[in-house]
Amino acid sequence: MKSADAANHYFRKAARMMDVGARIETLLATPLREVKVQVPIELDSGEIHTFIGYRIQHDNSRGPMKGGLRYHPEVDQQEVVALASLMTWKTAVANLPFGGAKGGITCDPSHMSLKEVERLTRKFVDQVQDVIGPTQDIPAPDVNTNPQVMAWIMDQYSKYHGHSPAVVTGKPLDLYGSKGREAATGRGLLYISRQILRDLGLSLKGARFAIQGFGNVGSHAARLIHEDGGRIIAISDVQGGVRNPAGLDVVALFEHVKQHGTVKGFGGGTVCSNEEVMVAECDVLIPAALGGMLRRSNAAEVRARVIIEGANGPTLPEADEVFEKRGIPVVPDILANVGGVTVSYFEWVQNLQHLTWDEDRVNSELEKVMREAYERVGQIARARKTSLRTAAYVLAIGRVGKATVLRGI
Ligand code: NAD
Repeated sequence: MKSADAANHYFRKAARMMDVGARIETLLATPLREVKVQVPIELDSGEIHTFIGYRIQHDNSRGPMKGGLRYHPEVDQQEVVALASLMTWKTAVANLPFGGAKGGITCDPSHMSLKEVERLTRKFVDQVQDVIGPTQDIPAPDVNTNPQVMAWIMDQYSKYHGHSPAVVTGKPLDLYGSKGREAATGRGLLYISRQILRDLGLSLKGARFAIQGFGNVGSHAARLIHEDGGRIIAISDVQGGVRNPAGLDVVALFEHVKQHGTVKGFGGGTVCSNEEVMVAECDVLIPAALGGMLRRSNAAEVRARVIIEGANGPTLPEADEVFEKRGIPVVPDILANVGGVTVSYFEWVQNLQHLTWDEDRVNSELEKVMREAYERVGQIARARKTSLRTAAYVLAIGRVGKATVLRGI
Protein backbone atom coordinates (compact mmCIF):
# COMPACT_ATOMS: atom_id res chain seq x y z
CA MET A 1 0.00 0.00 0.00
CA LYS A 2 1.20 3.52 -0.79
CA SER A 3 1.48 6.14 1.91
CA ALA A 4 -1.28 8.10 0.13
CA ASP A 5 -3.72 5.20 0.63
CA ALA A 6 -2.90 4.81 4.30
CA ALA A 7 -4.95 7.77 5.57
CA ASN A 8 -7.99 6.44 3.74
CA HIS A 9 -7.42 2.97 5.20
CA TYR A 10 -7.23 4.31 8.77
CA PHE A 11 -10.28 6.51 8.22
CA ARG A 12 -12.38 3.59 6.91
CA LYS A 13 -11.31 1.29 9.74
CA ALA A 14 -12.55 3.80 12.34
CA ALA A 15 -15.68 4.75 10.38
CA ARG A 16 -16.70 1.08 10.24
CA MET A 17 -16.03 0.64 13.95
CA MET A 18 -18.38 3.61 14.53
CA ASP A 19 -20.92 2.20 12.08
CA VAL A 20 -21.44 5.58 10.38
CA GLY A 21 -22.98 3.93 7.31
CA ALA A 22 -21.74 3.80 3.73
CA ARG A 23 -23.30 7.11 2.63
CA ILE A 24 -21.77 9.23 5.40
CA GLU A 25 -18.48 7.35 5.00
CA THR A 26 -18.37 8.29 1.31
CA LEU A 27 -19.37 11.88 2.06
CA LEU A 28 -16.59 12.28 4.65
CA ALA A 29 -13.97 10.55 2.51
CA THR A 30 -14.55 12.64 -0.60
CA PRO A 31 -12.82 16.03 -0.95
CA LEU A 32 -15.02 19.06 -1.35
CA ARG A 33 -12.91 20.47 -4.16
CA GLU A 34 -9.76 19.43 -6.05
CA VAL A 35 -7.92 22.21 -7.85
CA LYS A 36 -5.10 21.35 -10.28
CA VAL A 37 -3.34 24.24 -12.01
CA GLN A 38 -0.54 24.81 -14.45
CA VAL A 39 2.17 27.08 -13.07
CA PRO A 40 4.31 28.32 -15.96
CA ILE A 41 7.31 30.45 -15.03
CA GLU A 42 10.41 31.79 -16.70
CA LEU A 43 13.52 30.08 -15.32
CA ASP A 44 16.73 32.05 -14.76
CA SER A 45 18.02 30.53 -18.00
CA GLY A 46 15.23 32.31 -19.90
CA GLU A 47 13.40 29.05 -20.65
CA ILE A 48 9.74 28.61 -19.81
CA HIS A 49 8.94 25.69 -17.55
CA THR A 50 5.41 24.58 -16.64
CA PHE A 51 4.99 23.14 -13.16
CA ILE A 52 1.82 21.48 -11.86
CA GLY A 53 0.27 22.68 -8.61
CA TYR A 54 -2.58 21.38 -6.47
CA ARG A 55 -4.83 22.72 -3.77
CA ILE A 56 -7.13 20.07 -2.39
CA GLN A 57 -9.91 21.24 -0.06
CA HIS A 58 -11.17 18.27 1.84
CA ASP A 59 -13.80 19.46 4.32
CA ASN A 60 -15.05 22.76 5.71
CA SER A 61 -17.86 21.67 8.01
CA ARG A 62 -16.00 22.88 11.14
CA GLY A 63 -14.55 26.07 9.66
CA PRO A 64 -12.21 27.49 7.00
CA MET A 65 -9.89 24.86 5.59
CA LYS A 66 -6.30 24.73 6.77
CA GLY A 67 -3.24 22.93 5.52
CA GLY A 68 0.33 23.20 4.33
CA LEU A 69 1.85 23.77 0.93
CA ARG A 70 4.57 21.31 -0.09
CA TYR A 71 7.25 21.72 -2.78
CA HIS A 72 8.66 18.31 -3.69
CA PRO A 73 9.41 16.28 -6.84
CA GLU A 74 7.12 13.47 -5.65
CA VAL A 75 4.04 15.62 -5.06
CA ASP A 76 1.05 14.16 -6.92
CA GLN A 77 -2.69 14.63 -6.71
CA GLN A 78 -3.35 11.38 -4.85
CA GLU A 79 -0.80 12.26 -2.18
CA VAL A 80 -2.18 15.78 -1.71
CA VAL A 81 -5.74 14.39 -1.40
CA ALA A 82 -4.57 12.06 1.37
CA LEU A 83 -2.70 14.86 3.17
CA ALA A 84 -5.75 17.16 2.89
CA SER A 85 -7.95 14.57 4.59
CA LEU A 86 -5.36 14.17 7.34
CA MET A 87 -5.73 17.92 8.00
CA THR A 88 -9.49 17.56 8.46
CA TRP A 89 -8.97 14.83 11.07
CA LYS A 90 -6.09 16.69 12.69
CA THR A 91 -7.94 19.97 13.21
CA ALA A 92 -10.88 17.99 14.57
CA VAL A 93 -8.70 16.01 17.03
CA ALA A 94 -7.25 19.30 18.31
CA ASN A 95 -10.76 20.78 18.34
CA LEU A 96 -9.71 23.80 16.27
CA PRO A 97 -12.45 25.65 14.34
CA PHE A 98 -10.99 24.59 10.99
CA GLY A 99 -11.48 22.05 8.22
CA GLY A 100 -8.71 20.48 6.18
CA ALA A 101 -6.86 21.22 2.94
CA LYS A 102 -3.40 20.70 1.45
CA GLY A 103 -1.43 22.02 -1.47
CA GLY A 104 1.63 21.08 -3.37
CA ILE A 105 3.70 21.86 -6.41
CA THR A 106 5.66 19.13 -8.17
CA CYS A 107 9.12 20.67 -8.27
CA ASP A 108 12.58 20.25 -6.82
CA PRO A 109 13.47 23.48 -5.01
CA SER A 110 16.97 22.18 -4.28
CA HIS A 111 17.66 22.73 -8.00
CA MET A 112 15.95 26.14 -8.20
CA SER A 113 17.18 29.63 -7.37
CA LEU A 114 15.42 31.75 -4.74
CA LYS A 115 14.06 33.97 -7.52
CA GLU A 116 12.63 30.95 -9.36
CA VAL A 117 10.93 29.74 -6.16
CA GLU A 118 9.49 33.22 -5.65
CA ARG A 119 8.13 33.37 -9.22
CA LEU A 120 6.69 29.88 -8.82
CA THR A 121 4.98 30.84 -5.56
CA ARG A 122 3.50 34.07 -6.89
CA LYS A 123 2.26 32.39 -10.06
CA PHE A 124 0.66 29.62 -8.02
CA VAL A 125 -1.15 32.25 -5.92
CA ASP A 126 -2.39 33.91 -9.13
CA GLN A 127 -3.94 30.56 -10.07
CA VAL A 128 -5.60 29.77 -6.73
CA GLN A 129 -6.28 33.21 -5.19
CA ASP A 130 -10.00 32.90 -5.82
CA VAL A 131 -10.35 29.70 -3.79
CA ILE A 132 -8.11 30.54 -0.80
CA GLY A 133 -8.61 33.30 1.78
CA PRO A 134 -8.85 34.00 5.54
CA THR A 135 -12.42 32.64 5.75
CA GLN A 136 -12.00 29.98 3.07
CA ASP A 137 -8.69 28.18 3.03
CA ILE A 138 -5.47 29.21 4.78
CA PRO A 139 -2.17 27.65 3.60
CA ALA A 140 0.92 27.16 5.82
CA PRO A 141 4.48 25.83 5.44
CA ASP A 142 5.18 22.16 4.82
CA VAL A 143 8.07 20.21 3.29
CA ASN A 144 10.45 22.64 1.53
CA THR A 145 8.35 25.75 2.13
CA ASN A 146 9.15 28.26 4.84
CA PRO A 147 8.22 31.67 6.31
CA GLN A 148 9.65 33.47 3.25
CA VAL A 149 7.37 31.50 0.93
CA MET A 150 4.43 32.37 3.19
CA ALA A 151 5.39 36.08 3.00
CA TRP A 152 5.25 35.93 -0.82
CA ILE A 153 1.84 34.24 -0.65
CA MET A 154 0.52 36.97 1.65
CA ASP A 155 1.93 39.70 -0.58
CA GLN A 156 0.60 38.23 -3.82
CA TYR A 157 -2.84 37.46 -2.41
CA SER A 158 -3.05 40.99 -0.94
CA LYS A 159 -2.58 42.45 -4.44
CA TYR A 160 -5.96 40.95 -5.37
CA HIS A 161 -7.87 41.25 -2.09
CA GLY A 162 -6.27 44.07 -0.08
CA HIS A 163 -4.05 43.69 2.99
CA SER A 164 -4.70 40.10 4.16
CA PRO A 165 -2.19 38.73 6.69
CA ALA A 166 -4.69 36.05 7.80
CA VAL A 167 -4.64 34.35 4.37
CA VAL A 168 -1.59 32.31 5.34
CA THR A 169 0.18 31.23 8.55
CA GLY A 170 3.77 30.45 9.38
CA LYS A 171 4.78 33.92 8.23
CA PRO A 172 8.00 35.63 9.37
CA LEU A 173 7.78 37.31 12.78
CA ASP A 174 8.36 40.69 11.11
CA LEU A 175 5.33 40.15 8.90
CA TYR A 176 2.48 39.12 11.20
CA GLY A 177 3.88 35.70 12.12
CA SER A 178 3.26 34.26 15.58
CA LYS A 179 5.90 33.79 18.23
CA GLY A 180 6.40 30.08 18.80
CA ARG A 181 5.10 29.01 15.36
CA GLU A 182 8.37 27.83 13.94
CA ALA A 183 9.08 25.42 16.79
CA ALA A 184 5.42 24.53 17.41
CA THR A 185 5.28 21.08 15.82
CA GLY A 186 8.51 20.04 17.55
CA ARG A 187 7.26 21.50 20.83
CA GLY A 188 4.03 19.54 20.48
CA LEU A 189 6.11 16.37 20.09
CA LEU A 190 7.88 17.24 23.34
CA TYR A 191 4.53 17.61 25.16
CA ILE A 192 3.26 14.30 23.76
CA SER A 193 6.55 12.58 24.65
CA ARG A 194 6.27 13.73 28.26
CA GLN A 195 2.69 12.51 28.52
CA ILE A 196 3.08 9.08 26.98
CA LEU A 197 6.34 8.35 28.81
CA ARG A 198 4.58 9.24 32.06
CA ASP A 199 1.73 6.87 31.15
CA LEU A 200 4.32 4.13 30.59
CA GLY A 201 5.85 4.85 33.99
CA LEU A 202 8.97 6.46 32.48
CA SER A 203 10.45 9.93 32.73
CA LEU A 204 11.58 12.04 29.80
CA LYS A 205 14.78 12.78 31.68
CA GLY A 206 17.35 10.32 30.40
CA ALA A 207 14.90 8.67 27.95
CA ARG A 208 16.51 7.67 24.63
CA PHE A 209 15.14 9.16 21.40
CA ALA A 210 15.84 8.28 17.75
CA ILE A 211 14.65 10.91 15.29
CA GLN A 212 14.39 10.63 11.51
CA GLY A 213 14.52 14.04 9.81
CA PHE A 214 16.28 17.24 10.85
CA GLY A 215 14.01 19.80 9.18
CA ASN A 216 11.54 22.07 10.89
CA VAL A 217 9.88 19.28 12.86
CA GLY A 218 12.84 17.02 13.66
CA SER A 219 15.34 19.73 14.57
CA HIS A 220 13.07 21.61 16.98
CA ALA A 221 11.89 18.35 18.54
CA ALA A 222 15.53 17.32 19.06
CA ARG A 223 16.47 20.68 20.58
CA LEU A 224 13.51 20.89 22.96
CA ILE A 225 13.70 17.23 24.05
CA HIS A 226 17.44 17.65 24.68
CA GLU A 227 16.78 20.82 26.74
CA ASP A 228 14.20 18.87 28.77
CA GLY A 229 16.74 16.16 29.64
CA GLY A 230 16.02 13.56 26.92
CA ARG A 231 18.92 11.86 25.14
CA ILE A 232 18.99 11.99 21.34
CA ILE A 233 20.86 8.78 20.56
CA ALA A 234 20.40 8.74 16.76
CA ILE A 235 19.27 11.26 14.17
CA SER A 236 19.32 11.50 10.38
CA ASP A 237 18.40 13.60 7.40
CA VAL A 238 18.16 12.82 3.70
CA GLN A 239 21.96 12.57 3.41
CA GLY A 240 22.55 10.14 6.29
CA GLY A 241 22.65 9.80 10.04
CA VAL A 242 24.73 9.91 13.19
CA ARG A 243 24.41 8.05 16.48
CA ASN A 244 25.81 8.07 19.96
CA PRO A 245 24.30 5.79 22.63
CA ALA A 246 25.37 8.24 25.35
CA GLY A 247 23.37 11.01 23.71
CA LEU A 248 24.39 13.48 20.99
CA ASP A 249 25.47 17.01 21.89
CA VAL A 250 22.52 18.68 20.18
CA VAL A 251 23.90 22.22 20.50
CA ALA A 252 27.09 21.18 18.69
CA LEU A 253 24.99 19.26 16.15
CA PHE A 254 23.05 22.44 15.30
CA GLU A 255 26.36 24.24 14.79
CA HIS A 256 27.51 21.45 12.45
CA VAL A 257 24.26 21.62 10.44
CA LYS A 258 24.58 25.40 10.20
CA GLN A 259 28.01 24.99 8.63
CA HIS A 260 27.47 21.90 6.46
CA GLY A 261 23.72 21.81 5.80
CA THR A 262 23.41 18.21 7.01
CA VAL A 263 23.83 16.09 10.14
CA LYS A 264 26.10 13.81 8.11
CA GLY A 265 29.72 13.99 9.15
CA PHE A 266 29.01 15.28 12.69
CA GLY A 267 32.02 14.40 14.80
CA GLY A 268 30.12 13.83 18.07
CA GLY A 269 28.99 10.33 17.10
CA THR A 270 29.42 7.51 14.62
CA VAL A 271 28.08 7.47 11.07
CA CYS A 272 24.89 5.48 10.54
CA SER A 273 22.31 5.03 7.81
CA ASN A 274 18.76 6.28 7.85
CA GLU A 275 17.51 2.74 8.23
CA GLU A 276 19.72 2.25 11.31
CA VAL A 277 18.05 5.27 12.92
CA MET A 278 14.63 3.68 12.37
CA VAL A 279 15.67 0.46 14.09
CA ALA A 280 17.91 1.93 16.81
CA GLU A 281 17.29 0.62 20.33
CA CYS A 282 15.54 3.49 22.09
CA ASP A 283 12.55 4.49 24.18
CA VAL A 284 10.95 6.78 21.60
CA LEU A 285 11.22 6.72 17.82
CA ILE A 286 10.09 9.92 16.10
CA PRO A 287 9.80 9.66 12.32
CA ALA A 288 9.86 13.32 11.24
CA ALA A 289 10.75 13.18 7.53
CA LEU A 290 8.35 11.91 4.88
CA GLY A 291 5.44 9.47 4.63
CA GLY A 292 5.73 5.69 4.29
CA MET A 293 9.01 5.25 6.18
CA LEU A 294 7.75 2.49 8.52
CA ARG A 295 6.88 -0.49 6.33
CA ARG A 296 6.50 -4.26 6.51
CA SER A 297 10.22 -4.57 5.74
CA ASN A 298 11.43 -2.72 8.85
CA ALA A 299 8.50 -2.84 11.33
CA ALA A 300 9.62 -6.10 12.92
CA GLU A 301 13.11 -4.65 13.48
CA VAL A 302 12.01 -1.47 15.26
CA ARG A 303 13.34 -1.50 18.81
CA ALA A 304 11.50 1.48 20.31
CA ARG A 305 9.08 1.29 23.22
CA VAL A 306 6.84 3.88 21.63
CA ILE A 307 6.54 5.62 18.26
CA ILE A 308 5.46 9.24 18.00
CA GLU A 309 4.63 10.35 14.46
CA GLY A 310 6.16 13.75 13.75
CA ALA A 311 5.75 13.36 9.99
CA ASN A 312 2.46 12.96 8.19
CA GLY A 313 1.71 9.35 7.31
CA PRO A 314 5.07 7.79 8.26
CA THR A 315 3.54 4.40 9.19
CA LEU A 316 1.96 2.19 6.54
CA PRO A 317 -0.99 0.05 7.73
CA GLU A 318 1.03 -3.17 7.33
CA ALA A 319 3.61 -1.77 9.80
CA ASP A 320 0.91 -0.41 12.08
CA GLU A 321 -0.49 -3.95 12.45
CA VAL A 322 2.95 -5.25 13.37
CA PHE A 323 3.32 -2.56 16.05
CA GLU A 324 -0.14 -3.34 17.43
CA LYS A 325 0.73 -7.04 17.67
CA ARG A 326 4.08 -6.24 19.27
CA GLY A 327 2.43 -3.93 21.81
CA ILE A 328 4.34 -0.84 20.64
CA PRO A 329 2.02 2.16 21.05
CA VAL A 330 1.98 4.55 18.09
CA VAL A 331 0.88 8.14 18.73
CA PRO A 332 -0.64 8.95 15.32
CA ASP A 333 0.20 11.97 13.20
CA ILE A 334 -3.31 13.41 13.57
CA LEU A 335 -2.61 13.75 17.30
CA ALA A 336 1.18 13.92 17.66
CA ASN A 337 1.97 16.63 15.12
CA VAL A 338 -0.98 19.00 15.71
CA GLY A 339 1.36 21.55 17.33
CA GLY A 340 2.00 23.32 14.03
CA VAL A 341 -1.61 23.73 12.99
CA THR A 342 -2.56 24.73 16.53
CA VAL A 343 -0.11 27.63 16.62
CA SER A 344 -1.14 28.43 13.04
CA TYR A 345 -4.63 28.82 14.46
CA PHE A 346 -3.25 31.17 17.14
CA GLU A 347 -1.48 33.15 14.39
CA TRP A 348 -4.72 33.45 12.40
CA VAL A 349 -6.57 34.60 15.54
CA GLN A 350 -3.89 37.24 16.26
CA ASN A 351 -4.00 38.46 12.64
CA LEU A 352 -7.78 38.78 12.67
CA GLN A 353 -7.67 40.66 15.98
CA HIS A 354 -4.64 42.81 15.03
CA LEU A 355 -2.74 41.93 18.20
CA THR A 356 0.20 39.78 19.25
CA TRP A 357 0.60 37.21 21.99
CA ASP A 358 3.85 36.68 23.88
CA GLU A 359 5.59 33.35 23.50
CA ASP A 360 4.71 32.07 26.98
CA ARG A 361 1.04 32.49 26.17
CA VAL A 362 1.42 30.69 22.83
CA ASN A 363 3.27 27.78 24.43
CA SER A 364 0.92 27.40 27.38
CA GLU A 365 -2.19 27.54 25.16
CA LEU A 366 -0.54 24.96 22.90
CA GLU A 367 0.15 22.67 25.85
CA LYS A 368 -3.49 22.94 26.92
CA VAL A 369 -4.80 22.00 23.44
CA MET A 370 -2.42 19.06 23.17
CA ARG A 371 -3.10 17.76 26.68
CA GLU A 372 -6.85 17.81 26.10
CA ALA A 373 -6.51 16.07 22.72
CA TYR A 374 -4.17 13.41 24.14
CA GLU A 375 -6.43 12.72 27.12
CA ARG A 376 -9.59 12.52 25.03
CA VAL A 377 -7.95 10.13 22.55
CA GLY A 378 -6.61 8.02 25.45
CA GLN A 379 -10.11 7.79 26.98
CA ILE A 380 -11.59 6.60 23.68
CA ALA A 381 -8.77 4.07 23.18
CA ARG A 382 -9.36 2.60 26.63
CA ALA A 383 -13.16 2.58 26.32
CA ARG A 384 -13.12 0.95 22.88
CA LYS A 385 -10.03 -1.19 23.57
CA THR A 386 -8.43 0.06 20.41
CA SER A 387 -5.23 1.75 19.26
CA LEU A 388 -4.50 5.44 19.76
CA ARG A 389 -4.72 5.86 15.99
CA THR A 390 -8.19 4.37 15.65
CA ALA A 391 -9.30 6.30 18.74
CA ALA A 392 -8.05 9.57 17.25
CA TYR A 393 -9.98 8.89 14.03
CA VAL A 394 -13.09 8.00 16.05
CA LEU A 395 -12.85 11.35 17.85
CA ALA A 396 -12.28 13.27 14.61
CA ILE A 397 -14.95 11.51 12.56
CA GLY A 398 -17.46 12.06 15.38
CA ARG A 399 -16.75 15.79 15.47
CA VAL A 400 -16.72 16.30 11.70
CA GLY A 401 -19.75 14.05 11.22
CA LYS A 402 -21.77 15.96 13.85
CA ALA A 403 -20.89 19.35 12.30
CA THR A 404 -21.81 18.06 8.83
CA VAL A 405 -25.19 16.77 9.96
CA LEU A 406 -25.99 19.88 12.05
CA ARG A 407 -25.24 22.21 9.14
CA GLY A 408 -27.44 20.16 6.85
CA ILE A 409 -26.40 18.34 3.72
P1 NAD B 1 11.45 19.92 6.21
O1 NAD B 1 11.51 20.01 4.74
O2 NAD B 1 11.80 21.10 7.04
O3 NAD B 1 12.40 18.70 6.72
C1 NAD B 1 12.33 17.41 6.22
C2 NAD B 1 13.52 16.63 6.78
O4 NAD B 1 13.42 15.27 6.39
C3 NAD B 1 14.87 17.14 6.28
O5 NAD B 1 15.82 17.07 7.33
C4 NAD B 1 15.23 16.12 5.20
O6 NAD B 1 16.63 16.02 4.98
C5 NAD B 1 14.66 14.86 5.84
N1 NAD B 1 14.44 13.78 4.88
C6 NAD B 1 13.86 13.85 3.65
N2 NAD B 1 13.86 12.63 3.09
C7 NAD B 1 14.43 11.79 3.97
C8 NAD B 1 14.74 10.42 3.97
N3 NAD B 1 14.47 9.63 2.93
N4 NAD B 1 15.31 9.90 5.07
C9 NAD B 1 15.62 10.68 6.13
N5 NAD B 1 15.37 11.98 6.19
C10 NAD B 1 14.79 12.53 5.12
O7 NAD B 1 9.98 19.39 6.56
P2 NAD B 1 9.20 19.50 7.94
O8 NAD B 1 8.38 20.73 7.93
O9 NAD B 1 10.13 19.22 9.07
O10 NAD B 1 8.16 18.30 7.79
C11 NAD B 1 8.54 16.96 8.06
C12 NAD B 1 7.28 16.11 8.14
O11 NAD B 1 6.43 16.62 9.15
C13 NAD B 1 6.43 16.10 6.87
O12 NAD B 1 5.81 14.84 6.78
C14 NAD B 1 5.39 17.16 7.14
O13 NAD B 1 4.23 16.96 6.39
C15 NAD B 1 5.16 16.94 8.61
N6 NAD B 1 4.60 18.08 9.35
C16 NAD B 1 5.21 19.30 9.34
C17 NAD B 1 4.68 20.33 10.09
C18 NAD B 1 5.34 21.68 10.20
O14 NAD B 1 4.87 22.50 11.00
N7 NAD B 1 6.40 21.95 9.48
C19 NAD B 1 3.52 20.12 10.84
C20 NAD B 1 2.94 18.85 10.84
C21 NAD B 1 3.50 17.83 10.09
